[in-house]
Amino acid sequence: MTEPTFATLVSRWYARNARDLPWRRPGVGPWAILVSEVMLQQTPVVRVVPAWEAWLARWPEPADLAADTPAEAIRMWGRLGYPRRAVRLRECAVAIVERHGGRVPDRLEQLLALPGVGTYTARAVAAFAYGQRHPVVDTNVRRVVCRAVAGEPDAGPATRPADLVATEELLPVEPAAAALASAAFMELGAVVCTARSPRCATCPVESVCAWRASGQEAPTGPTRRPQRYAGTDRQVRGLLLGVLREATAPVPRQRLDQVWADDVQRSRALAGLVDDGLVEPVGEASFRLAGDGPPVPVP
Ligand code: SF4
Repeated sequence: MTEPTFATLVSRWYARNARDLPWRRPGVGPWAILVSEVMLQQTPVVRVVPAWEAWLARWPEPADLAADTPAEAIRMWGRLGYPRRAVRLRECAVAIVERHGGRVPDRLEQLLALPGVGTYTARAVAAFAYGQRHPVVDTNVRRVVCRAVAGEPDAGPATRPADLVATEELLPVEPAAAALASAAFMELGAVVCTARSPRCATCPVESVCAWRASGQEAPTGPTRRPQRYAGTDRQVRGLLLGVLREATAPVPRQRLDQVWADDVQRSRALAGLVDDGLVEPVGEASFRLAGDGPPVPVP
């Protein structure tokens, strides 16, 4: 009898242990899956779940979001962080309406051409929404493959073409089984083969894992320092956006001046928000969220 493959072992484990996340339930469509993938890129699951549900209750299809303003997308994004994603997601919805009649495309090259949709997100949507066979490689999957196949403790900082090749080689040939395996690899990296405390003793691929076989110890302590937030431009941007999100009319600069004492840092943060298309000036000395009212006359 042939030994079960790596993908079979992980997929069997996934069938018994997968977390019940709302975007994995039957009947969830491609748009809802695309929204979940964008939200999950830099935000933990526990914070994404309520935001995802609220987002889809308001904009159940791309056309619903495309018809609304960037300002409302930024407001709904709330405090998920990295709010440029909200604007890009709306741009993506507009492109889906204009290029694909409001339906999320199922071809990889069409997905890759959408605003804000990169290598990972395009393949995740093609696999999880359309059951296709593509290597879906996020940080967790890279770590699992790097450890189990190459026998190294951690992957490098960015996804390389070689990571896609190494992951694809592990996928079953049949597309639906490959899509399931992709979800299973991600889950294994998220909850078992974690960066700092891999639970090798309970891992479904312990018997075939090259890193485990090498007898190396699990790494301890943080792999990288947690990103500082207090005092950064990100914090100042968040404070400025917080005021603008609540506003129902353009906000005078003097009001924004109150959120942060350092003039240079505050001005830099505000300029960054304008450059990123999140905020727009109104007249000489007021600001609002992008598109939060009639177009500003060009002088
Ligand atoms: S055995 Fe340990 S290192 Fe190997 S894949 Fe499983 S959790 Fe990761």
